[in-house]
Amino acid sequence: MITKNNFTINASENTTYKADVAIAGAGISGIVAALELLESDLKVILLDRDEEHQIGGLAKESFGAMFFVDSPQQRWTGIKDSTDLALSDWLANAEFGEEDVWPRKWAEFYVNNCTQLGYKWLRKQGVRFLPVVNWIERPTDKKPGNSVPRFHVVWGSGKGLTATLANRLLNHRNIANLKILFRHKVTEIINEDGVITGLNGENEQTGGTFTVKADNTIIASGGICGSIEQVKANWYKPWGDPPQTILNGSHKYAEGILHEAASDIGANVTHMDKLWLYPGGVKHPNPRHPQHGLSILPCKSAIWLDSHGRRFGPEPLIAGFDARNQVETICKQDNKHSWLVMNMKIAIKELSISGAEHNPSIRDKKLFRFLKGVFFGSKGLIDDMLTNCENFITGNSVAELTEKMQALSGDINIDRQAVADAIQQFDASANPNTGTYDRQRELIRLVRKYPLDGIRTCKDQKIDDKSAYPLIAVKEHILSRKTMGGIQTNLESRVLTAVGETIPNLYAIGEAAGYGGGGLHGLRSLEGTFLGGCVISSRLAAADILNKKIH
Ligand SMILES: Cc1cc2nc3c(=O)[nH]c(=O)nc-3n(C[C@H](O)[C@H](O)[C@H](O)COP(=O)(O)OP(=O)(O)OC[C@H]3O[C@@H](n4cnc5c(N)ncnc54)[C@H](O)[C@@H]3O)c2cc1C
Repeated sequence: MITKNNFTINASENTTYKADVAIAGAGISGIVAALELLESDLKVILLDRDEEHQIGGLAKESFGAMFFVDSPQQRWTGIKDSTDLALSDWLANAEFGEEDVWPRKWAEFYVNNCTQLGYKWLRKQGVRFLPVVNWIERPTDKKPGNSVPRFHVVWGSGKGLTATLANRLLNHRNIANLKILFRHKVTEIINEDGVITGLNGENEQTGGTFTVKADNTIIASGGICGSIEQVKANWYKPWGDPPQTILNGSHKYAEGILHEAASDIGANVTHMDKLWLYPGGVKHPNPRHPQHGLSILPCKSAIWLDSHGRRFGPEPLIAGFDARNQVETICKQDNKHSWLVMNMKIAIKELSISGAEHNPSIRDKKLFRFLKGVFFGSKGLIDDMLTNCENFITGNSVAELTEKMQALSGDINIDRQAVADAIQQFDASANPNTGTYDRQRELIRLVRKYPLDGIRTCKDQKIDDKSAYPLIAVKEHILSRKTMGGIQTNLESRVLTAVGETIPNLYAIGEAAGYGGGGLHGLRSLEGTFLGGCVISSRLAAADILNKKIH
């Protein structure tokens, strides 16, 4: 158990609490801030809308991987990284404008300090990372990305990460100084003559209201991606209208209530149209909230087709490179969804789903099962999806597959010949000596040179290969995940107004702050920067409140 029942206090009508620090949101950001604050003798109140067993927010569901630079894992595996290289990758991806002063400062701070303030601190808390680093958001000769692998996976996934930190919090020697109030929805930031003095809200269990009076207030309430209405309202305009169907891959309470409350008291809420969406959303077979989606990490050896079954090109879409470009390309098509076509062998070896739920061997720290999965893939996952997820279909011939694609497409016409041609074109490139040139095949061969991806990616695999049947098609929707804009903050995580003045006694951390500075990613993330941003921005807020330096 990572929670203690006696921390839940049922408020009666209009209850008032007093604390030195009030924190709105008990996700990883709120937990890290509280953990750091408990090192002093300050009294802290942590409020969350959710149930007690959901402490940890989205991080609990996450895959739990983080972007670090020049880490022991990288050194151990011979990866040569440096803050200069990482910063140049970051800036090339972010495409900051002149006006992005705080996002750029935050990006520089993150890159220069993530290993010290993130990795080393987490290790001290007892968090362990896999020895081998994943390589995602890769660059190509045409687009920037991570020049080297930087995606450090927590052994135990996001669930283990959260459990470790929550356990440390709940067993802290100063635990008597912490009060946690679940089912408490914060609705308002109290502003008395320009000074923030706490929070108001509703106790969703009793129907009463509450006030927390505090010397310092921290907003840690996550982003807006849990509300598809908010995602659509903040849609990136150059992409035209948002897709009709967007699946929800975020937290059910990530609705932006406190972004609005912060804006009401003069905070600068910026870059809200910079959303980190994923192209491979499928319906969750057992949804826990409306439009609940899962993010498929598409197979590199699958071909990616538009809503009519035509292969994207001339530059094909391929997993592991530039997720934003994939979303943009799909959203520029008429129906704004896509298809992935592969066979069973490719699916078993290459297909995975992001998050703790669908990576049980990492989550439950089962080393043998994990290694088996790395070498042989995950048949259980594919069988589960084929049986339970309506986005997956199979066929024992191209004709049968395309017929089923048409059936799932309703009024949208599938060009069945285009699907057959795309498969044939890709398959014609399979033989490295006699095959035709195919850009996707070239990139697959490049990816396979990194030993970990060499093991996990099929070699010269054809799709229309009867020994690897059945054929599989997956209808994929855009999935909302992370909010890269947010409440603008300085490097102490203090909230800023539009003219760059700090709002006294108010802080914002984690996803609520666009992971720091109201948008430290700019247009794109190099991945793993989200959890890292939560840890670092939260530690900085606590350090400023405690008036101490952090290491
Ligand atoms: C499946 C999945 C996989 C992921 N994998 C990774 C990964 O590998 N690497 C990575 O870097 N990131 C990953 N992420 C993203 C990362 O988990 C989140 O961005 C991060 O956990 C956000 O943490 P947070 O504490 O800032 O916000 P949240 O986790 O959203 O927590 C906010 C908390 O505030 C509460 N709240 C909201 N509004 C209110 C209110 N008005 N009043 C009171 N309480 C409120 C919520 O209930 C919630 O508990 C993943 C996310 C998902 C869903």
